[in-house]
Amino acid sequence: MSDDKELGFATKAIHAGQRPDPATGAVMTPVYFTSTYVQQAPGVHKGYDYARTVHPTRSALEANLAALEGARRGLCFSSGMAAIATVVQTLRSGDHVVCCEDLYGGTYRLFTQVFQRFGLSFSFVDAADLSAVEKAFSAQTKLLWIETPSNPMLRITDLRGACQLAHRHGALAAVDNTFASPALQRPLALGADLVVHSTTKYLGGHSDVVGGCVLANDEGLYERLKFLQNAVGAVPGPMDCFLLLRGTKTLPVRMERHCQNALAVAKHLLAHPEVERVHYPGLAHHPGHETAKAQMSGFGGMISFELKGDLSRAKRMASGTKLFCLAESLGGVESLIGHPATMTHGSIPREQRLKSGLVDGLIRLSVGLEDAADLVADLDAAIAASL
Ligand SMILES: *Cc1c(COP(=O)(O)O)cnc(C)c1O
Repeated sequence: MSDDKELGFATKAIHAGQRPDPATGAVMTPVYFTSTYVQQAPGVHKGYDYARTVHPTRSALEANLAALEGARRGLCFSSGMAAIATVVQTLRSGDHVVCCEDLYGGTYRLFTQVFQRFGLSFSFVDAADLSAVEKAFSAQTKLLWIETPSNPMLRITDLRGACQLAHRHGALAAVDNTFASPALQRPLALGADLVVHSTTKYLGGHSDVVGGCVLANDEGLYERLKFLQNAVGAVPGPMDCFLLLRGTKTLPVRMERHCQNALAVAKHLLAHPEVERVHYPGLAHHPGHETAKAQMSGFGGMISFELKGDLSRAKRMASGTKLFCLAESLGGVESLIGHPATMTHGSIPREQRLKSGLVDGLIRLSVGLEDAADLVADLDAAIAASL
């Protein structure tokens, strides 16, 4: 892996963690469908004993993802939620976590409805405002949890500043980097201790697999997480690992087009008379534009916007597109449209949603790799039909 560190990002995407199979010369990483491995004598084996603990297709993926994030170590899980849960399982009862307020709905649900029962506490703050983050720390705070760009408001947190705050308060900084992907943003280089991904999204990129990962540089932290990966056991299967290895090979080229298309769609919506507001960090008026420019190499494929009118119009519009599929999730080659208040963020109480600007008329787009002109025409037609 040390050789891979010297290579460019696109080269690492294709080669890191992988080499032609020594047994056959197969260029693609073999999918090892096995749960166990033969031992020469009790406890004597080739480094593989049981597939929950260690698996060669998964090891290739873990090395690949670690290289992309510039991390020394990577661990893969059966879903993004399993990866996030594993990070929280490193904490103890009584510990406190500071989180950004408009975070992924499933993460909010996991924190408040599962881990709160085990004696952990969580504070939700506008992490675009570092003074609000600072105020939320207490002597019990062990972890800062950041998503940037955030979901679905596309707020930007200054990662370097936020990680410094965490460290000053003796806490670790974890970043859910799902929205940006390592092609656009690498939080470990900005001071984060942990990066997590739902690999279901941009890393997989084709809406055909559910997965998650955690990346870290610190060996002690990695060992604690590795222990939990094996002890709790939310590991991905070999076919899922193969699909993800196939996905990451094209990540750099896909992200380039996601960014181009999203900017074109965002600019078009900004000029649309039926649109009240557009949230996209690539637009100059976005409050996080300068920070995004400094810490990201592109602004990503996610947009949210407020349609004029009420909740029912927003739902009509989101149901009226032909190319954009009305669906949960994001980050695939195909464009998706969603209504966060009734879909992805339905598990967050309405007052909490409104506090972070997630109004009933908000629509979220995952802009795919189709022709931008077709996407714009599809949105225009659905907006006109929803009047
Ligand atoms: C989808 C998503 C998750 C959860 O991942 P799953 O793979 O669905 O379990 C977590 N964080 C973000 C930002 C996501 O988009």
